[in-house]
Amino acid sequence: MTKIGLEIHCQLTKLESKLFCSCKANYREFEPNHNVCPVCMGLPGSLPRLNQKAVESATSIAMALNCATPEKIAFFRKNYFYPDLPKNFQITQLNVYGDMSVGGEGYVDVEGKKIKIRRIQLEEDPGRLIYEGTSDRTKITLVDYNRAGTPLVEIVTDPDFENPRQVRVFLNILSDLLENLGVAEPGLEGAMRADGNVSIEGGNKVEIKNIGSFHDLEKALHFELTRQQSLHERDIEIAMETRHWDDRRKITISSRSKEEDQDYRYFLENDIPWVKIDQETRDVLKKNMPESISSKKERYVEKYDIAPQVADILSSDRYYSDLFENAHNESNAKDIANLITTDLLGFIDTREKRETSKVTPQHLADLVNAVNAKTLTRNSSKIALQEIVKSGKSVKELLDEMDLGQVSDSSEIDNIISQIFEEEKQAVQDAKERPETVNFLVGKVMQKTKGKADPAKTLELIKSKLGQ
Ligand code: ZN
Ligand code: MN
Repeated sequence: MTKIGLEIHCQLTKLESKLFCSCKANYREFEPNHNVCPVCMGLPGSLPRLNQKAVESATSIAMALNCATPEKIAFFRKNYFYPDLPKNFQITQLNVYGDMSVGGEGYVDVEGKKIKIRRIQLEEDPGRLIYEGTSDRTKITLVDYNRAGTPLVEIVTDPDFENPRQVRVFLNILSDLLENLGVAEPGLEGAMRADGNVSIEGGNKVEIKNIGSFHDLEKALHFELTRQQSLHERDIEIAMETRHWDDRRKITISSRSKEEDQDYRYFLENDIPWVKIDQETRDVLKKNMPESISSKKERYVEKYDIAPQVADILSSDRYYSDLFENAHNESNAKDIANLITTDLLGFIDTREKRETSKVTPQHLADLVNAVNAKTLTRNSSKIALQEIVKSGKSVKELLDEMDLGQVSDSSEIDNIISQIFEEEKQAVQDAKERPETVNFLVGKVMQKTKGKADPAKTLELIKSKLGQ
């Protein structure tokens, strides 16, 4: 049987400062090696001071993943020598002396299957190595310590996945959940990285390290399963090892042989006192947790009669659900939901477009109001929304400026219909004989008015002109 397990590293990007010092958690905005201090550089005599907010965020994640959370947590040193780690040890957590990491024994429901969460731990991110050229043949490696000490949560699953597709579904659920919690932005470059361990029946476990994109992880798992099956069929032993994903050649390649746990010589980090997280603190954290994605979805469907697929898109994406929550009221909820998922979604389909978008909840409410009051057609509201995304102009301004107002004046539409009847004599004849072809004429009127004619009124007027 195929067994796949995951270790996911997720940066707590919403925090202000690093895990053990006051350097910025958002290291991305700095010149290389400009977001460092004696603590995150591990200089002799410096002492770490734990970021309390990081403990709270990590505990919230543990709770959201149905984990047990202990009364007390401890930190450990994981010793290894590598240029991205100036201290020569990483401060992390372990489950020894009882369960002393922020959480354990949780699960995530993935299409009806429970994927067990073995452990969640809080730890620091190492620095970043930058290779000139490809990592396997580079002559120069640069190191940037801006990231060193950034708060990370490591989430370890049991080897419960049976195939790479399940892994992808799980990661999508997990990243939506983290985003919804407001603790992380999994879409940011390098903010969520995963290791996968893969084994097939009768073979050793192989670990694939540090893949930054879900898409690549799925491909790497596919490749690895095929490689192992092919070795197995030829009676060649599958070595227990660590492999890297080469995203240029789309293959996994063998790297250093894997350290055993004892090679890391874990021991207690005595510079950080054990942290108590009492019941009261945990109760407060639980109470302050945002509504879960599944409960949002249920509410949207039941309270507002929104279609389940639409509710799914809205609830699983914090950005859209925030827009929806702030734009809707009892009466326009369904229209707002549809406006977001049919029109807006297409206009802001990348992270960059989202970040520069000028759309506010007020815009959405105004657009829906204008359509319902028949001052704007559905079609024109789409054009207006596209303009709002770019300029942020108010709906009222756009109605004046862009000449988008709905034409519902009968005599005006009648004039246009007369012109169309002149130009489309054959179509008029057809519509008289076969009433179902009348839509062609309606379409012509819409074309001429650039989508501004009231469609219902247009149909009514055409029919009466045809004597129907
Ligand atoms: Zn620092
Ligand atoms: Mn780790």
